Amino acid sequence: MSFRLGIFGGTFDPIHLGHLIVAELARCLLRLDRVLFVPARIPPHKGPVATEPEHRFRMTCLATENNPHFAVSDLELRREGPSYTVDTLRTLRAESPEGTDTYLLMGADSARDLETWKDSDILLEEATVVVADRRGDGDIPACVRERATLLSTPLIEISSSDIRRRVRDGRTIRYLVADSVESYIRSEGLYRS
Ligand code: ATP
Repeated sequence: MSFRLGIFGGTFDPIHLGHLIVAELARCLLRLDRVLFVPARIPPHKGPVATEPEHRFRMTCLATENNPHFAVSDLELRREGPSYTVDTLRTLRAESPEGTDTYLLMGADSARDLETWKDSDILLEEATVVVADRRGDGDIPACVRERATLLSTPLIEISSSDIRRRVRDGRTIRYLVADSVESYIRSEGLYRS
């Protein structure tokens, strides 16, 4: 059977348990051999991110290190300019053994915008787009919905922006991020202002 590679791109500022739960559910449901987390250097749809890419990369490594099926790529961090998923997909496919099946994991909010991504047609052709469909999202455009695999996942109301706000306001982030990520945020003094 061919190798099944899941690719999960994001800003991961910081990576939280919502990301990890979606990745693990997708891995099990789609029988993925590996899920590769790919932190973006400059996410085209969000613009420059205040948190250094190295911090986001290290937090992603910490959060995923105890799952043998998870790995982290620094591919987009090494590339100058906006981190286009289609370029990442091409590079990862070129580096993978022939016949590797690629699965692009994303939340419904990303799937909603997918049509506006660079070469979205190629993305939908060259990878299986997998959408964590948290509430049977009717507002994913038909052209994406028809070609994507929808994974019915529980609604996990955790977001990186909420975590950043919580740290800034001195509220708890326990059980929202991995303990190792919380320790890293504290020791590096991230998100305080
Ligand atoms: P922010 O709050 O800063 O916008 P975020 O929590 O959405 O960040 P990202 O790193 O931008 O985190 O997300 C990476 C991918 O993970 C996206 O495809 C997004 O849709 C998905 N995602 C993020 N949080 C969740 C969640 N709680 N459940 C399912 N998918 C999620």
